[in-house]
Amino acid sequence: MGSALKRSLAKRQSGEQDGNLKSSRRGPGRKDAQPATEADRILPMLIRSIPQTILTTDQDFAELGLSRPLVEAVTRIGFEHPTRIQAEAIPAALEGGDVLGLAETGSGKTAAFCLPMAEHLQHGRGVRGLILSPTREIALQTREFLRLVGAHHNLSTAILIGGVKMGPQIDALKQSPDILVATPGRLLDHVRRGNVRLDHIEKLVLDEADHMLDLGFLPQITDVLDLIPTERQTMMFSATMPPPIERLANRLLKSPTRIDIIPHGRTARGIEHRLYLVEPDNMRPCLMALAAAESGSMLVFLRRKIDAEWAYRQLVQEGHAAERIHSDRSQAQRVRALDGLREGEHRILIATNIAARGIDIPIIEHIVNFGVPDTVEEYVHRAGRTARGDAEGVVSTIATWKEKELIRMIEKAIETRLPRLSAAGVEPYRERRKTIRGRPIRRRRLL
Ligand code: AMP
Repeated sequence: MGSALKRSLAKRQSGEQDGNLKSSRRGPGRKDAQPATEADRILPMLIRSIPQTILTTDQDFAELGLSRPLVEAVTRIGFEHPTRIQAEAIPAALEGGDVLGLAETGSGKTAAFCLPMAEHLQHGRGVRGLILSPTREIALQTREFLRLVGAHHNLSTAILIGGVKMGPQIDALKQSPDILVATPGRLLDHVRRGNVRLDHIEKLVLDEADHMLDLGFLPQITDVLDLIPTERQTMMFSATMPPPIERLANRLLKSPTRIDIIPHGRTARGIEHRLYLVEPDNMRPCLMALAAAESGSMLVFLRRKIDAEWAYRQLVQEGHAAERIHSDRSQAQRVRALDGLREGEHRILIATNIAARGIDIPIIEHIVNFGVPDTVEEYVHRAGRTARGDAEGVVSTIATWKEKELIRMIEKAIETRLPRLSAAGVEPYRERRKTIRGRPIRRRRLL
């Protein structure tokens, strides 16, 4: 399966981003459209760097325990929902404990460690935060993000990376920054020349630890660790966990919250399950968003032939190569539709449950259940159409709250809570806000 699929689901469209940009213009302190502050300069750059597709959860940033200015800052950047690593790492880090995050590159790690740091640190106490990055590019991106989210505490950041002159970095260090973003070698150069001390570091982040070890940075990391206080909060991120990383984690972290978002379902059986809970009216937009977000082969199961015909027409109208099989299609048409999928003539096949029964559907990359299958057996059977052998596959289910019992039964049977995700531009399902004598009561998640 293409990397686009692994990374994707919330397809970001330029219109949405413009919308976010516009709303930021209505924000406090903005009297005209001219970039006025550092944040205003960086914001468009960060927005441009948001990938076309990114996998997000159905949670809100406000639920993670962040203060309002930080929630506003991420909203201005154009982040609508946290990614999984953000949804899990941010609350844990805000509580002050160590975090071990197993997450792929591009999963949203930068915000996962920058936001808690920006929440906790105050300006003017000397260097308290240290972020070790494997490469200059990653360090630069991290610094840009920090500038934006650190603005409300006036946090200043110095970047210490190799391959550029020392002079400007020394000048930046003289300004007594609050946070350092550094590659390990250059950081040690500065320490050895007496340009900076690390003995008051309170927050340490090791980003892409496996990448750093691949680049041969272990000795430098070890040296840095000897220079910083043992009483500190540490967050370490890695995409893989080979024994040297495990040893480093043991040395670095104290009783960490371990967050593994490299799905076990996928590694163990090659299948990744996803659940999109939406209002009934949003089921169709959700299907269109999923189809648009990915480029691999896709098989969509629907209950009713009227929905199948609608989905087929809509997908074709939106430029997708699609076919359908349902009870109004002749045997010859059904066979042609299946052959076409096998041979790559079309990417998407729409099938009603009944038409799909007992036929030999080829193995494909992404199964979409439009509505929860009626039985656990059916869910498992359909999931079996993807991820054969070494292949990886995704099973997405678009559902409404009415199907929660079926969802629970499936989760019990496969011993996994289906991860709740959101699709681009489609509001995830929330229980409607209820009021008691006009006053809103706390939102509650139904599932
Ligand atoms: P990272 O893994 O932190 O480098 O993030 C990868 C890309 O995803 C960056 O371009 C981010 O701007 C973008 N990104 C991170 N978190 C979110 C989010 N919650 N919503 C949308 N885009 C995001």
